[in-house]
Amino acid sequence: MPTIAIFVFMTDAKLSQLAQWLAKPLHIVIIPHKNPDGDAMGSCLAWQKVLQQFNHHALVIAPNSYPTFLHWLPGNENVINYETEQENAESLVANADLIFTLDFNTLKRIDDLGVCVSSSRAKKIMIDHHQEPDDYADLMFSEPSMGSTCELVYHIIIGLQKQQYIDSDVATCLYTGILTDTGSFRFPSVTPTTHRAVADLIERGANHSDIHDRIKDSARPDRLKLLGTALSNMTFLADYNTAYITLSQEELDRCNYQKGDTEGFVNYGLSISGIQLAVIMTESKKENIIKMSFRSKGEFAANTFAKTFFEGGGHTNAAGGKSDKSLVETEKYFKAALKTFLN
Ligand code: 5GP
Ligand code: MN
Repeated sequence: MPTIAIFVFMTDAKLSQLAQWLAKPLHIVIIPHKNPDGDAMGSCLAWQKVLQQFNHHALVIAPNSYPTFLHWLPGNENVINYETEQENAESLVANADLIFTLDFNTLKRIDDLGVCVSSSRAKKIMIDHHQEPDDYADLMFSEPSMGSTCELVYHIIIGLQKQQYIDSDVATCLYTGILTDTGSFRFPSVTPTTHRAVADLIERGANHSDIHDRIKDSARPDRLKLLGTALSNMTFLADYNTAYITLSQEELDRCNYQKGDTEGFVNYGLSISGIQLAVIMTESKKENIIKMSFRSKGEFAANTFAKTFFEGGGHTNAAGGKSDKSLVETEKYFKAALKTFLN
């Protein structure tokens, strides 16, 4: 057994409350944020399998679709997509006893599904690692010091003394989210406790090498061509220690863009010595927005920057947002915003 650290979010009172609610079989819905990533899907599917093992009827409802490189996750075949199964999803949310919201901290992150969650009679439980959570949940496991929601879910399972339910499927899902949200174990949020959790997950059946392969080495040639375009579009703002990438819809189309193809592109900016802020601006003609992703090192608060100028948020060193302007105008606006922010 790994050493169990005692975290603020894991007060006995919270765990007892959760254990009490879970004492009899219930109808449970588990929801990740919109455009779910490895951490969001990994944590939801792991938690679902744990709950099913103690006789709950548990279902995952995703607000919309997600990249195919996550479709191999155990349990993926039963995920309900709110966008394509709206009526079914709304009825499940309305009739649930418990709703777990995973890997986000404000109902705005699940768009219209948030309205259904709000009006459902179900008790709501947040499990998340983003700063400044909204106050919508009846019970909150909010721990911004955690590098991933998957790690948090792991500690909650251990705290509930349900470790016997961490089978190879659960271990695989949790490992995936820890891997993706920690940039393969390199972000400052990774701790010795993270590695102890991961060691335990490997012992319980997570195949780290296979998971890495499925997540990181499963691209189509078109995706690498798109990366080439992104890198050649990179602009450096030496005065601001910033590197940014733009990708137009036309450039995406030329490389037969599929959801998830640009995942990780933003990080390349940070691989340059001295760069403190890396940004990617991706045009979406379908949504009629420019999707913004920010990654920073050190003190630069990417979440504050995203919230102040791009209707977004996230973590200190990884945040996202959007712009309703054109790509060219967004680029100009971004440069002005950066100047304001740093002065
Ligand atoms: P990404 O750049 O990978 O889309 O997101 C990085 C981080 O910022 C993630 O933790 C994600 O949850 C958060 N994030 C991304 N987009 C938004 C947004 O529009 N609003 C908020 N509040 N957070 C976001
Ligand atoms: Mn996360």
